[in-house]
Amino acid sequence: MNAPQLPAQARIVIVGGGAVGCSIAYHLARLGAKDVLLLERSTLTSGCTWHAAGLVGQLRGKTNLTRMMQMSARLYAAIGEEVGQDVGWHGTGSLRLASSANRWLELKRSATIARSIGFDMHLLSPREAYDKFPLIDLEGVHGAAFVPSDGYVDPYGLTQAYAKGARAGGVRIVEGVTVTAVERMGKRITAVRTAHGDVRCEILVNAAGLWARQFGELAGLELPVTVVEHQYLVTEKTDRIPPGLPSLRDPDNNFYLKPEPGAFAIGGWEEGTVAPYGDGRLPPDFAQQLFPQNMERLERFVVPAATRLPLLNELGIRTVINGPIPVSADGEPIIGLHPDLDNYFLACGFTAGIAGSGGAGQVLARWIVDGDPGMDLWAFDVRRFSQHHASPAYLHDVGIETYAAYYKMGWPNEERVAARGARRSPFHDKLLAAGAVHGSKNGWERPNWFRRGGVPEPTHETFDRQVWRDTVGAEHRLVREGVALIDMSSFTKFEVGGPGAFEYLNWLAAANLDKPPGAAVYTQLCNARGGIEADLTIVRLADDRFYLVTGSGFGTRDGGWIRAHMPADGSVQFSDVTSARAVLNLCGPLARRVLEKVTRDDVSNAGIPYMSAKHIRIGLAPALAVRISYVGELGWELHIPTEYAAYVFDTLLEAGAEFGIGHAGYRAIDSLRMEKRYLYWSADITPDYNPFEAGLGFAVALNKGDFQGREALRRIKAEGVRQKLCCFLLERPLPVYGGETILRDGRVLGSTSSGNYGFTVEKSIVFGYVPAADAQATAFEIEAFGETTPAVRIDGCAYDPQRARLLG
Ligand SMILES: Cc1cc2nc3c(=O)[nH]c(=O)nc-3n(C[C@H](O)[C@H](O)[C@H](O)COP(=O)(O)OP(=O)(O)OC[C@H]3O[C@@H](n4cnc5c(N)ncnc54)[C@H](O)[C@@H]3O)c2cc1C
Repeated sequence: MNAPQLPAQARIVIVGGGAVGCSIAYHLARLGAKDVLLLERSTLTSGCTWHAAGLVGQLRGKTNLTRMMQMSARLYAAIGEEVGQDVGWHGTGSLRLASSANRWLELKRSATIARSIGFDMHLLSPREAYDKFPLIDLEGVHGAAFVPSDGYVDPYGLTQAYAKGARAGGVRIVEGVTVTAVERMGKRITAVRTAHGDVRCEILVNAAGLWARQFGELAGLELPVTVVEHQYLVTEKTDRIPPGLPSLRDPDNNFYLKPEPGAFAIGGWEEGTVAPYGDGRLPPDFAQQLFPQNMERLERFVVPAATRLPLLNELGIRTVINGPIPVSADGEPIIGLHPDLDNYFLACGFTAGIAGSGGAGQVLARWIVDGDPGMDLWAFDVRRFSQHHASPAYLHDVGIETYAAYYKMGWPNEERVAARGARRSPFHDKLLAAGAVHGSKNGWERPNWFRRGGVPEPTHETFDRQVWRDTVGAEHRLVREGVALIDMSSFTKFEVGGPGAFEYLNWLAAANLDKPPGAAVYTQLCNARGGIEADLTIVRLADDRFYLVTGSGFGTRDGGWIRAHMPADGSVQFSDVTSARAVLNLCGPLARRVLEKVTRDDVSNAGIPYMSAKHIRIGLAPALAVRISYVGELGWELHIPTEYAAYVFDTLLEAGAEFGIGHAGYRAIDSLRMEKRYLYWSADITPDYNPFEAGLGFAVALNKGDFQGREALRRIKAEGVRQKLCCFLLERPLPVYGGETILRDGRVLGSTSSGNYGFTVEKSIVFGYVPAADAQATAFEIEAFGETTPAVRIDGCAYDPQRARLLG
């Protein structure tokens, strides 16, 4: 065999010839990208792709993942004919059974979400489900969902079709070439090294699938992705399987089924899978290999499958496939530009990479060619992770947990159990002693609520009234009527300084930062389209020093965004000071009475007006008191050097005792912020929306001079927005979590972005975008779990619209 011939230079190099890498190559070719090279160490599909079952299910928990899956399904129906390569697409639909009452509720909720995004999905009675799949036993079936456009595809044929289309568009694909090293200069990859020569490149794509973590290490990156075992079996042949059956999923019984010609392929997401290579690194010579079958794990889903499908008891097993499957630190794929490098794209961590490859290839190719994926990809963005997510110990435990969760009920407010406790605030143990039930956010342990009196052990297993509801209601009222202390140490905090800091940040932010030291400014950071990339507070500490505060989960992303745009001349310095400052939110109408007792600084309205900050002393300790609120009451976020944190905590509790001070947690915060119409980035605002649509026009300073996104925002304002974020109060207190359908006169307008119960206004509240033409109406309906209730759109917010409490 001739040695592979490589060019000395290619503009874009894709590493990995699985379904994902080949799809990126195909889509780059379709977008007209030139000089693209795909390198595959063995043969195309030889990684994870060749042994996949090929099921394509589109409806996912995240709207944009569903959109990506829709792109895939549409492509699979057409690509075979387009490139002249059969992909074995069977668009026979999919049936998902509800074998429990709760699953039936979940399916109804999915149907509501599907309706809100215009996705074709039907709920069926057990009998109708049987008509679609006449081999199932209906015992215990409450209903089913049918998606007509789902199907299954041949992963090998699909990958070859991508490759054929890519080659036809000028992409060079070379097999039998392992990239063994990458050359890095500063924030750029300049070349890849192979045994057949080096290739200089301008853009590198890591689509190395099972090897993605190892491949990332070549560039000095630690990627939060590992590999676990996944099994399915293929039954013996029989002539008793009718043609044209849909694929079948019975998540309560933990199995999926794909009709093969005259047989079934059946797989499952059982508990206790194995991470064969604890640190996620496959041996270098691993290619087209499987693991020995594990009958004990197989039984965990085959036995229930045989009860649902009695025919299985009569069919022997022809083959068992036990293969390695990628899984990321949260189970979702990783797509996009790595924040540490300017030209390194990721497309890895795909647990359902056959279904996902079509859409993922399309959005990533767009991102590479246009510099922007064109839609919000936050749920898949590598910037959603932090350092601890990439630790082998974390990935091992979470990989196994995430795998087993694939078919578990997606309960609202559910918390992970594996790999907890890594990031604790200085108040952690004190809060625990006070009854805190911690949740996990980006690895931080944060108080969700406080167990008081006889409240039982928390369980999340309901869509309805949670055991902690009354307790959270009490915490909510404590903030509204008295004074509370909330640990917000998990906030991400940055300092940006230097002679160019003001000019730079004022260009990056949509609001005007030209304020005197001590001012606190709420602002969005927009992209060139005007989409909201970040939502944060910037405190001016000095003429040339700024303190930035953003959400617990957004540190990598927002920090990456800020660093990526910084001038290269060294005039601006950036540092992440998250670990250096603990944060306590002292809030409620009695908050000033408490603070006054422990400080000699002037904390009156004149001393620290709303939206300002001041260095004060609390007893012996220094603190930056920022007069701002996400709960809508008088209060300060006190940023405290970590070593003083415990002291300040004790001091405030002691001083607050006479005012009835108590603890509150993040569940209460969410209810409080909904009443105030305070938005949450990643749900209510994302790069898909601009500040004018979100009702944040007040924070956009179009006249301050040039800033990122200004032209787009000026145009949007002049032309008027197409959609608007509205706040709705529900007539009946349906449980709402976001994702509900918004209707007007029976017409579907969209879906809600957030939902919760407001304990002060005693109503369920949702936010959501509706077309601008509908945004002035007041009468709407909200559909949740298949039930519809009238809802009133209100101007402004539900609680204290005049801000009297906040300014008090
Ligand atoms: C048993 C089983 C059943 C599955 N069923 C389904 C299903 O029904 N539906 C579904 O959507 N998904 C399914 N999957 C998952 C699916 O197979 C994967 O998500 C998908 O194949 C991932 O594709 P990929 O291109 O990202 O990775 P891979 O297929 O692993 O491709 C990566 C490629 O990169 C190459 N490579 C790595 N390092 C280098 C290097 N240094 N230099 C050059 N080349 C390199 C490798 O050789 C490999 O070919 C299943 C998985 C398993 C194990």
